[in-house]
Amino acid sequence: MMMRQCLLGLFLVCFQPRSGSFISLNSRTDVVELQTAGITALIADTTSVAYLTGHFNPAQHPDFVRIDREYCSRENAFLRREAYIAFKNMVVEAKKSGIRLTILSATRNFSDQKKIWSNKWVALKQKEMKGVIRMSNIERARYILRFSSMPGTSRHHWGTDIDLNSLKNVYFLSGEGKKVYQWLQVNATKFGFCQPYTSKATGRTGYEEEKWHWSYRPLSDGFTLAAGNKLKDEMLKDFPGSEFASEIKMIKLYMLGISSDCLQLTENK
Ligand SMILES: [Zn+2]
Repeated sequence: MMMRQCLLGLFLVCFQPRSGSFISLNSRTDVVELQTAGITALIADTTSVAYLTGHFNPAQHPDFVRIDREYCSRENAFLRREAYIAFKNMVVEAKKSGIRLTILSATRNFSDQKKIWSNKWVALKQKEMKGVIRMSNIERARYILRFSSMPGTSRHHWGTDIDLNSLKNVYFLSGEGKKVYQWLQVNATKFGFCQPYTSKATGRTGYEEEKWHWSYRPLSDGFTLAAGNKLKDEMLKDFPGSEFASEIKMIKLYMLGISSDCLQLTENK
C-alpha cells in the first residue's frame, strides 16, 4: 500500500487519498482503516485506555498545544496540535464571512470532568435534601447525562473536541448564533469538524443535542473506534453514580451515540 504521509504519535496514521467516508474494523489485527473526507488512514490501534479515559495532563503531553487567548475564552486550554491548526484555519475562513468562533472549552481530562460531574451530583442532592426535587440515584445520573459525560467517557478527554461560542442551544437559533451555526453546518466539514450530538429525532441515543460541540474527525474517528473496542462500562469508577454505568449502557448509548456525520462504522469479519 502506498503511504503518502505518516504521523507518529500515540498511534500511527498513514494517509492515502481515496473517496468515501467510513471505517473498516478488523478486530483480529487491531489495525483499522479510516476513511474521512476522502483520506484513508491506517491506524495501528495502540491508543491506551488511560488516554481514552483522560488520565493524563494535556499541559505535559507532547501532542498537545496551549490555545492562544485570541481563540479561547479561558487561560490554559489545550488541544491536540492538528486539531488546533485546523481550528485556526477555520477561524480565518469564518472571519471572511463575518463569523466569530470562540472556544469555550477544549480538552478536559478525567479530573476536570470529575469536578463537573461531582458538582452537578452534589447540587442535585442538595435540592433533594431541601425537598425541591425527588430523584433516585440512577435518575440523578441520567439527568446529569443530558448534557454532561461521566468522567472517563467524554470526547473532551481526547484533545479533538471543542465547545464554541455558547453552551445554550437557544443561542444558535436566532441572530448572530444562528448565522454561526448555519456557517458551521456548511463549512466545518471542510476543516475536518463535525457535530457529534445532533438532534435525537433521527434515533440517535445518549446526550441531548449540542449545537456548540464540534469534533476534529481526522483524529477523533480513531479515538471513537478505539473507545468502542477497549472501554467497558465496568471500567468506569471513582466518581458518584459510577455504579450505574452498566445499567445506563454508557459506552454503547452515550459514548457511541454520535451523529452519522461524525462516524459510520462497518465491520470486516
Ligand atoms: Zn462539549
